Amino acid sequence: MRFQFRFLISIGSILVLNQCNPSYDPGTTEHIFKVTSQVNDERLLTADETPGDWLSYGRNYFEDRFSPLQQITIANIDRLGLAWSLNLGIKGALEATPLVVDGIMYVTGSWSEVFAIDARKGELLWKFDPKVPRIIGFKACCGSVNRGVALYRGMVYVGALDGRLIAIDAASGKLKWETITVDTTANYTITGAPRVVAGNVIIGNGGAEYGVRGYVSGYDAMTGEQKWRTYTVPGDPDLPFESKAMEEAAATWTGEWWKYGGGGTVWDAMAYDPDLDLLYVGVGNGSPWPRVYRSPEGGDNLYLSSILALDPQNGEIVWYYQTTPGDNWDYTATQHMILADLNIEGQKKKVIMQAPKNGFFYVLDRTNGDFISAESYVYVNWASGIDQQTGRPIENEWSRYETKDVQIFPSNVGGHNWQPMAYNPETGFVYIPSLDRSMVFGLDPDWKFDDGFGGVNWGTNRTAPNPEREVLEDASSPQPDPQGRLVAWDPINQKEAWSVAYHENWWNSGVLTTSGGLVFQGLCDGSFIAYDAKNGNKVWEINLRTGIMGSPVSFEIDGIQYISVAVGWGAWAGNGYQFTEYSYPGTVYTFTLGKNTPIPDYPMPDSTPRNLADFEFEADEEMLARGMTLYEKYCNHCHWDVARETVGVVPDLGYINQGTYNSFEAIVLEGLRSPNGMPNFKDLLTKEDVAEIKNYILASTYSRRIENE
Ligand code: CA
Repeated sequence: MRFQFRFLISIGSILVLNQCNPSYDPGTTEHIFKVTSQVNDERLLTADETPGDWLSYGRNYFEDRFSPLQQITIANIDRLGLAWSLNLGIKGALEATPLVVDGIMYVTGSWSEVFAIDARKGELLWKFDPKVPRIIGFKACCGSVNRGVALYRGMVYVGALDGRLIAIDAASGKLKWETITVDTTANYTITGAPRVVAGNVIIGNGGAEYGVRGYVSGYDAMTGEQKWRTYTVPGDPDLPFESKAMEEAAATWTGEWWKYGGGGTVWDAMAYDPDLDLLYVGVGNGSPWPRVYRSPEGGDNLYLSSILALDPQNGEIVWYYQTTPGDNWDYTATQHMILADLNIEGQKKKVIMQAPKNGFFYVLDRTNGDFISAESYVYVNWASGIDQQTGRPIENEWSRYETKDVQIFPSNVGGHNWQPMAYNPETGFVYIPSLDRSMVFGLDPDWKFDDGFGGVNWGTNRTAPNPEREVLEDASSPQPDPQGRLVAWDPINQKEAWSVAYHENWWNSGVLTTSGGLVFQGLCDGSFIAYDAKNGNKVWEINLRTGIMGSPVSFEIDGIQYISVAVGWGAWAGNGYQFTEYSYPGTVYTFTLGKNTPIPDYPMPDSTPRNLADFEFEADEEMLARGMTLYEKYCNHCHWDVARETVGVVPDLGYINQGTYNSFEAIVLEGLRSPNGMPNFKDLLTKEDVAEIKNYILASTYSRRIENE
């Protein structure tokens, strides 16, 4: 029987492969429908047999982001050039991984728009805009972004920023069904890509900076009916626990954590092992950040900062591994996870690998969650290492910043963030987009839970700087300069094989590795680079003039291998702040051998000379302080600092002109600029608040003008 079953699968694969040479026009409705209908369970399970496609977020269920294609190699890469580019006509940061099936590409934009593209020519087939209200961006900690879609049986699935899970007809680009996956009165958002496992669409959400309770859910892919929901942290213990796991988790919390949500959102990483039938999800940080505020008498606070192995049929927790017990630093374990079978001390081990924010690279036994090994892949000072017996970090006694403000490595952004890493079984290395950066952490002594719309609940000095407190700086040496690095990591020996440092343009994108011996990565200055996977030698580079955040992919059509990357820089990412001169429209670039199309020459977003606003205002110091607090809370998120030197996609309010000055109140409270994406704050701010914000802006430009004189 087993043999027969395998035989059927290979017949299926042959049929599927035949679709590469369709008798109907590529890109027609009929073609799209046929190809995405083919993305069924079998095809997802055998993704490695159709290396010409990129069927799901991490290419296959193991999420290794390794393309077996080998037409483009180190020997011929100097002939790699632009085949086509497609301007998506959108602004902002693109973090998406494009999926490609039989010549059709699916990619998402900053406001959860979905684009279907003929990947041969770069022609847009359809666009689906879920019309996310722009005010939702205000409760997205890290910008209005989206990391991509899932494909299954003629449907395209996207998690919209406002918490909807949406199924789109792959042929027509029309809505099939949508369902709201979150409590819209709480500060939930979705930025991660859905996955489809055994007929269920799996989706989590974000919001741990805003006081939510994390969970992940499975929905019937055909109907949108919710099949299961698994919370990651316990709720109010006076109410019945949802599961035994929640009851056990509650024993690791103290105080009244549930009033603050607790955090633990499942906002990005997943992987699936079909043989073990285990779905792995990464769980985020605590809310608020300092444990002392959410669980005052300590505790591990399960299942924050953990990897959970779930039964994909019912969401039941089978095992867990907590990377950062009692998280205190926003050290999420939502970072990309890769499954691989490694030879460790003479034994073939089924492992799961993760480089979470906390700076340690973990290799775990994915059958049961047992610790195998962990070493730091970036400079780390909050813990001196991982106890090899217990798998727990050995924390330094000052790390929890309860009496002093402390400079901690890695920063809250992590040694590694959402940018996917990649594993090349031919070199044996995992390529990690890493960050060597620190943050001075301290308690905000006045923190009170803010459950309002977009209410930020860090609980640290990040919201309330504390100039009187002593700062314990890390004076050890060698200590890295603030930088990004692409790290090639040997997971068996737990050590760095090679690395490339990015000093100024430190934000580095997701990674692709290929059987052509290559590693592809982009940078925030628009560089798109290929390295020799063995030694890190740079072998190819092009500048796309737009900061790159998203992750490159490779696919094949009609025997030709392509490399694609979706680029766009904006709302967040060191916040479109340092590098906004690269904020050109979101664009998909696709490269192949022997082509040399010029990179489009977009005009600068705003190259006209600007004058600092010079309008009279009247305000005392107290009013200005209130204006600053309001500005920080409501405006800074998108507009950033007043009167900075760089140009962004969202206007710098230090340069407002007479028209904006006159209609300032109508813009903020009546939605006058809503066609440009400016939210309406009528439910959040009063006229007096708006006047104070305006005065603060004018006072800031006044001091900047004095500085400049
Ligand atoms: Ca976080």
